[in-house]
Amino acid sequence: IVDVQNMSKSFGSTQVLKSVNLSVQPSEVMCLIGPSGSGKSTLLRCIAFLEQYSGGNVFIEGEMLGYNDNTDVRKLTSTNELNHVRRNMGMVFQQFNLWPHMTALGNVTEALVRVKKFSRREANEKGHAILAKVGLAERAMHYPAQLSGGQQQRVAIARSLAMEPSVMLFDEPTSALDPELVGEVLQVMKDLASEGMTMIVVTHEMGFAAQVADTVVFLDQGEILVKGSPQEIFQGEKPPRLEQFLKNYM
Ligand code: ATP
Ligand code: MG
Repeated sequence: IVDVQNMSKSFGSTQVLKSVNLSVQPSEVMCLIGPSGSGKSTLLRCIAFLEQYSGGNVFIEGEMLGYNDNTDVRKLTSTNELNHVRRNMGMVFQQFNLWPHMTALGNVTEALVRVKKFSRREANEKGHAILAKVGLAERAMHYPAQLSGGQQQRVAIARSLAMEPSVMLFDEPTSALDPELVGEVLQVMKDLASEGMTMIVVTHEMGFAAQVADTVVFLDQGEILVKGSPQEIFQGEKPPRLEQFLKNYM
């Protein structure tokens, strides 16, 4: 469903991604792990075209996106391509980025009304259903400031889900949360995974990766060093860099 071929990305003279290849199948959960600065966020942002990349190709549902002009930068050149990305990718960040002046329901329904042209009534109906799905049926009319971090992040997930993306991208969705709030967000993600959502998850939660991922990818200095099942990654023979990295989490 997502195919990344030879993706490279530089910031100035620093090469941050070096010919990365990834392929994510429908309903697959892929966890990206790796040291700070290894390029995990950059990779996710490039896949979502929030960042222009310098080489390689991204295919979403078989369609190649991005145009390589003479300046060697991949960009989306048509509103069609942009819509394709927006329609297919939901992204959740470490920071929840909710609109503070809108209720949970407002946050979830805003794009339904503006982008998908739902009527207010249809949007609210769908919004309530999705908030219920992430366990926030009772919190629909609360503002972000009245919600815990875990609840806010679940609203952010609901907001993405409302657009019915075919892939959900998560960039360390729990790392800004107090430890006691991490579990409720991971649980929502587990539920999504078991419903067959295709997900790419950057995470430091090795328990989640071990339990939920179909594939774990270890990124190191902009390169995929190892890719495998959780068993292979966590229990198998490891290259020293992965061994060293995992030690910090045991
Ligand atoms: P972390 O675990 O800390 O989030 P990461 O694996 O997500 O790290 P990235 O944020 O992708 O790492 O960063 C990879 C490298 O790219 C780092 O060396 C970083 O300094 C650099 N980098 C990222 N964004 C920019 C930018 N906008 N301009 C210049 N350099 C950048
Ligand atoms: Mg990051």
